[in-house]
Amino acid sequence: MESLRVLELYCGIGGMHYALKESGVPFHIVAAIDINPTTNQIYRHNFPDTPLWNKTIEGITLDDFNKLSFDTILMSPPCQPFTRIGRQGDIQDPRTKSFLYILDLVPRLSTPPRFILLENVKGFENSSARERLVTMLVECGYTFQEIMVSPTSVGIPNSRLRYFLIAKIATEHTVLKISDVFPHAAHSDCYELPAVLDSACLATCQPEDPVEGDHVLYKVETEADAQRKRSQNNNLSVRQIQDFLEAQLEANEEHYLLPPKTLLRYALLLDIVKPTCRRSVCFTKGYGRYVEGTGSVLQCCVETQMESVFTGLDQCSEEVKLQQLQKLKLRYFTPREVANLMGFPQSLSFPVQVTTKQQYKALGNSLNVVVVARLLQLLLS
Ligand code: SAH
Repeated sequence: MESLRVLELYCGIGGMHYALKESGVPFHIVAAIDINPTTNQIYRHNFPDTPLWNKTIEGITLDDFNKLSFDTILMSPPCQPFTRIGRQGDIQDPRTKSFLYILDLVPRLSTPPRFILLENVKGFENSSARERLVTMLVECGYTFQEIMVSPTSVGIPNSRLRYFLIAKIATEHTVLKISDVFPHAAHSDCYELPAVLDSACLATCQPEDPVEGDHVLYKVETEADAQRKRSQNNNLSVRQIQDFLEAQLEANEEHYLLPPKTLLRYALLLDIVKPTCRRSVCFTKGYGRYVEGTGSVLQCCVETQMESVFTGLDQCSEEVKLQQLQKLKLRYFTPREVANLMGFPQSLSFPVQVTTKQQYKALGNSLNVVVVARLLQLLLS
């Protein structure tokens, strides 16, 4: 098979690049483009031979793009304009400008790409940006498929429900059939076709609205939440968290323990998992800095019963409260462990000058490599 000539737009730390490697498809990245100095540093550190353009996409001319003569575009446009917690500015949001520029550019290229893959957040499927993308694809003669999928569908215990679109130019003969790649997913919480989106989806990244006003058990957890977690933990097609932990962390564990202030202030909001669990919530860019909805924390002392710690906790003095909470030995996942849960290979490393917080941030903005690799195998086979 001929080596693909790939343009990696909004490359970040190179999630798409790693997914291509993982897919086994022969490729060559003709240019990777991003404006973020930190992620560019990380990208360059890991892929010193890939041409990395530190430029705004909308500042690159049609002529420059033509000169690259790529046949594949992989892209993750900024997602803030489409998230529920963002302002949902959609195509009015200035951060969508570069994406609209690409949509305008593709039909004018001297040779339109044979393959396109786009990743974005839940919310993109209902946007005007998606409508414009689809219009462009139809007008240029592409066939395409869309899917919402979470890493649990490939056996990884992490929820990160994302929108994907894969497109092939019509002269490519094979038919795209996403259900072949995620055969078991159709009946679980990890797979949804945008057309049948279920608002009570379980695998979503953002905290869900409470179901039917269920009463709170302990922590801020309803019976429905507890049930959902139990069913996730019973799904044997998903691996356990312990497979993704750093083996030699013991000496360094202290460094990742939640500080007393965080425990006292946010204990009730934490999503706590044990090494034997088969679930964790989506890691977002604020992990390690903000607590609510940014990712799970790990209970290192598994002998302590969570219920015994949290029952009656609000009646305790600060001192007792802290003592109780510390029994759980709660710690953050390390950046390496977050990378593992996002499907990155061991070869990903960070330059020494990039801080832990910057690593969390860069990873939180990235994607699940294994999920994208599966989609690429389908698209490019
Ligand atoms: N898939 C990437 C992350 C994409 S996040 C990964 O694996 O890490 C979106 C990225 O788009 C960010 O890194 C941001 O710096 C970049 N970006 C946003 N607007 C841009 C623009 N106009 N031109 C180039 N890059 C842009």
